[in-house]
Amino acid sequence: MSDRPIIKTALPGPKSKKKIKFDETYVSPSYTRAHPTVLDHADGPWIWDIDGNKFLDFHSGIGVCSTGNTHPKVVEAIIRQTRRAVHISSADFYHELVGQLAKRLSDVAPGPQPRRTFFTNSGTESVEAALKLARYKRRRPRMIAFMGAFHGRTMGALSLTCSKSTQRKGFAPLLPEVTHAPYPYCYRCPLNLEHSTCGLACLKFLEDEILTRVAPAEEVAAIIIEPIQGEGGYIVPPDDYFPALAALAKKHDIYLIVDEVQSGMGKTGKMFAIEHFGVSPQILTTAKALASGVPLGACIADRDVMDWPPGAHSTTFGGNPLGCASALATIDLLEGGLIANAAKQGKFVMAELKKLQKRHPSMGDVRGLGLMIGIEFVKDRASKKPAPEMADEVMMRAFEKGLMLLTCGPNGIRLVPPLIIERQHCQVALEILDEVIGKAEKKFKIG
Ligand code: PLP
Repeated sequence: MSDRPIIKTALPGPKSKKKIKFDETYVSPSYTRAHPTVLDHADGPWIWDIDGNKFLDFHSGIGVCSTGNTHPKVVEAIIRQTRRAVHISSADFYHELVGQLAKRLSDVAPGPQPRRTFFTNSGTESVEAALKLARYKRRRPRMIAFMGAFHGRTMGALSLTCSKSTQRKGFAPLLPEVTHAPYPYCYRCPLNLEHSTCGLACLKFLEDEILTRVAPAEEVAAIIIEPIQGEGGYIVPPDDYFPALAALAKKHDIYLIVDEVQSGMGKTGKMFAIEHFGVSPQILTTAKALASGVPLGACIADRDVMDWPPGAHSTTFGGNPLGCASALATIDLLEGGLIANAAKQGKFVMAELKKLQKRHPSMGDVRGLGLMIGIEFVKDRASKKPAPEMADEVMMRAFEKGLMLLTCGPNGIRLVPPLIIERQHCQVALEILDEVIGKAEKKFKIG
């Protein structure tokens, strides 16, 4: 079988076209469907549509299918559990897997052992749990989040989100007492400074201005932050940021919540991205890749933080047996080599992208950790003027060549493939990227 994408029809193909029209009649138009094609089946890093086109998956279903789609060990675990029992609510009954998975997450999450986990069905619910837990324990009304953050779309999580205006527009009033601080986005410093000489001025601003004048520190329950800002543009903070942020939070007795919904479960070459920075938050959220595509999320916290009483927070589906079985198989695979592979392939892709950057002036910044990599497009490198049209064009042209990607931030694309990919898959993706970036630059007369 060919190890390259195969595109046989114009996109969308005739069968996909029909199904998309049907879908548009009945499905909420609020979804942002980036790729006009309809899934037939998927295997590892490959996705086939119902017209017989074969795509290379470099989005993993928004960072979910880290073990590849339909990994045999994951499928086997799900089938085995399905034959035993599909559901019994973890809220009211015991089943073995939920305890096993909580212990496993306690073992792999950074921080003092043992840690406790509240299970959910999604990222946004994991953030809701973290938010409620912080409020409940601290009995303080305020939260600090960051400019460009994405934490989900339910009302609590949405109040912390501010990555795009469409996400918030029309939904006010949101949760009160949330203040957004500048994220350490050094390529476009919100304070117009340079990291080499700024002395972490954005943190100083958080302490001296926000926690002093806007949201008094003694009223703040938690600071919530993504270790790599995901939807906001795959932005990686400098190495000295997180230790200083954790020290600041500790000084004011504020919880640090690290949202690893996107960055967690091995993608960055470590189980959790925050491990790159040597910090252990009191509360950590994860979801997406936790169960390789079976909906499951988790809010993991220090034992003395997660000691709320029965009924304070609960769920019908969170921690259901299928999700737990799939997550346990997923963690086995991650620890059994996929995290190491993410680090290895990520290093290769990053080095090759840096070479491409030399040839393509629109590639303003290339950044990331492991296999969580972003490219930010600009009109020219000197002015750094954003080129959102490049991001959309590159994504669509890559799609037409059989490489599926997603955008991130206002003018970036993200590469977040399944962690099973091998060198040859990376090479195919890089070849396609080189070609389509070149064509898009010509179209927009960049360079
Ligand atoms: N938190 C982060 C960091 C995310 O990237 C996302 C989704 O992209 C969420 C929370 C929300 O997750 P979900 O879409 O599963 O609710």
